[in-house]
Amino acid sequence: MTIEYINGLEVDAITLSDIVQSLPELDKQPGPFTFISVNPQIGLHADEYPEIVDFINQATHRIPDGIGIVKVSQQQEKKINERVAGIELMYELLTFAHTHHKRIFLYGAKPEVLEAAVTNIEKTYPGLTVAGSIDGYTKLSEDEIVAEMNASQPDMVFVALGFPRQERWLAKHYQAVEAKYFQDVGGAFDVISG
Ligand code: UDP
Repeated sequence: MTIEYINGLEVDAITLSDIVQSLPELDKQPGPFTFISVNPQIGLHADEYPEIVDFINQATHRIPDGIGIVKVSQQQEKKINERVAGIELMYELLTFAHTHHKRIFLYGAKPEVLEAAVTNIEKTYPGLTVAGSIDGYTKLSEDEIVAEMNASQPDMVFVALGFPRQERWLAKHYQAVEAKYFQDVGGAFDVISG
């Protein structure tokens, strides 16, 4: 179920609990699944980022990540009543990864933030495999980043480079990464690290 937001940007009328309930079923399918936050900032700048708009419109899950989207949808036929915060979804995906023995990869944030985020995730979800991580200021080339991800065989990749870097990176590279789940998570690693 989708509604049109603004400037040709689509957003799904889904709640966090819809997503959580669908994960066991999704996991039986080949994927990949792209969980992408649609926030008002992206809508406002849609004209400047046509490749990101295409990517979002083709994402399997366009997440209503903003109260502005909830408000706009109230004037439309298919209403969204609940905001899905990207970080809340990330916590749910981490919980799923933990219970279903999935390997995760974190890409983004400052090196010390990333390190603290990995430590906190390993503490909160004991036994969860953080297959690898690369900070968001790395000197590695884009191809090297993809190669490092694939070498670590992740099931889930979280990209925290901020808008629009993370969407642009995902649009360009996610198909080359052999993972099943991808999420753009903005400043989530900073929150998790703290
Ligand atoms: N970030 C990064 N590389 C960059 C720029 C930003 O890894 O070249 C990270 C930054 O360290 C932070 C996250 O992206 O962890 C979100 O950054 P910011 O708050 O600037 O983005 P916004 O929340 O506005 O999307």
